[in-house]
Amino acid sequence: MKNIIFLAPPAAGKGTQSKLLCDNYNFEHISTGDLLRAEVAKQTTIGKDIDAKMKSGLLIEDNIIFNLLIDKLNNEKNTEGYILDGFPRNIKQAEKYDEILKENNQKIDYVFYLYLSKEEAVKRITGRLFCPKCGSVYNEFSLDCAPAVKDICDKCNTTLIKRADDNVETINQRYDIYMNETKPLIDFYKNKSILYELDSSLDVTEIYNQIIEIIGVNL
Ligand code: AMP
Repeated sequence: MKNIIFLAPPAAGKGTQSKLLCDNYNFEHISTGDLLRAEVAKQTTIGKDIDAKMKSGLLIEDNIIFNLLIDKLNNEKNTEGYILDGFPRNIKQAEKYDEILKENNQKIDYVFYLYLSKEEAVKRITGRLFCPKCGSVYNEFSLDCAPAVKDICDKCNTTLIKRADDNVETINQRYDIYMNETKPLIDFYKNKSILYELDSSLDVTEIYNQIIEIIGVNL
């Protein structure tokens, strides 16, 4: 069992690298953002509250995140490992996750930190498109990440959409929250000697190859 965490500012490629790993290994990809969007889609009272906070770029309360996460972990036991994408977002979440793993005799094996400047994050966010069916992510302004046919998913032919929180107004808020709340996790994991830094401006395949070199082809 391997536990992997992707730590990065918005639009650095956490989801893309997680999906590539899942295509090649029996990993379970857990994106707390996706779990929250599924809750929003249900249109429950709590879903509406989450929706408003996500649209303004704020973090969702830790107790809501843990309820969704623990539920998902309990339902996904038949896997070679978990890839956490977008979690933890602050030190409290990281400490609580450590406790949960300890209770289950597990540990975090790799934390991949994808670094990206604010300017590049803004550029990527304004062009980002995603597939509501299979979750594939594209960028209409990038040569190697644009869909082959405009606005259509290469993998499942579904019409691509924009995320409600992918706009210039919220990206500033999301990047600032990342700097204040999430970036301190870099030192938190560096001190545990499990942090690996990757340059998010490199080609998607090159980043993926670097990850494989670190985790090894045979797990
Ligand atoms: P993401 O899909 O990771 O870009 O997350 C989109 C939004 O979901 C964030 O801007 C937050 O509002 C919320 N979110 C995702 N993961 C977390 C988390 N671990 N803790 C708090 N809020 C989160």
